[in-house]
Amino acid sequence: MRLAGKTALITGAASGIGRESALLFASEGARVLAVDLQEEAGHAVVAEIEAAGGSASFARADVSKDADCAAMVAAAQEQFGGLHVLFNNAGIMDSGDDDAVSTSEEVWERTMAINLKGVFLGCKHGIPALRSSGGGSIINTASFVAQLGAATPQIAYTASKGGVLAMTRELAVVHAREGIRVNALCPGPLRTELLMKFLDTEEKKQRRLVHVPMGRFGEADEMAKAALYLASEESSFVTGTTFNVDGGITSAYVTPE
Ligand code: NAD
Repeated sequence: MRLAGKTALITGAASGIGRESALLFASEGARVLAVDLQEEAGHAVVAEIEAAGGSASFARADVSKDADCAAMVAAAQEQFGGLHVLFNNAGIMDSGDDDAVSTSEEVWERTMAINLKGVFLGCKHGIPALRSSGGGSIINTASFVAQLGAATPQIAYTASKGGVLAMTRELAVVHAREGIRVNALCPGPLRTELLMKFLDTEEKKQRRLVHVPMGRFGEADEMAKAALYLASEESSFVTGTTFNVDGGITSAYVTPE
């Protein structure tokens, strides 16, 4: 068991990457605090983990709210006696997110509050808990779009994920000597709710797939496996990385036919 004796807090755990990670981490021995806004789906993840013999609990929190982030970390400590893995994964892609001219200030602020401030608040409250446990691993979900310009604009989302990458590097450097590793998981385009709602026609999907050397969307469970590596001691000398799990998209100039 690669996470035996560890407590992992995962945000956005009711769906997609967070859900698959909650199931996988628990199957590897972690006690999982599944955090999300969606209560029913969050409880369903916990029930699935418990049915498989694992240990988990659900906490409703909005990662853009300071008090909610403080409460979710306290819940992990109270229920499971510590915190070793903090997976800041919750994120949104707003349907009104477009180019700089068309995107409203409201969409910009909402996206920044959840995708960027949410990671900051997770760290603000999570780092003292990781310290008390003698160190641990933080994984922040960024995106390939933080590294590449896209012709399909989503200015707020792209900027928020760029911020996550920059913040991850600084966190990694600042906390390295206290045994806290911090890495950014950079998924390529995935076949999850978040992206499929945005690419809502076959034409839009194919337009995106043209750029992926592997010629397919990634799956949430492929991200969970990468997150498991970053969460576990197998990555004990890995910190500050931009960890691409993207079907080759960030290496591509021209993709094969
Ligand atoms: P998803 O929509 O399936 O899951 C995201 C979860 O986050 C949902 O359960 C949602 O309820 C939750 N959430 C949203 N706002 C929240 C808030 N304020 N507080 C707490 N929970 C909140 O999406 P996913 O594809 O699994 O995305 C997970 C992460 O991966 C996101 O940060 C996303 O930006 C990133 N990502 C996704 C893709 C992709 O193609 N799907 C690519 C790169 C990066």
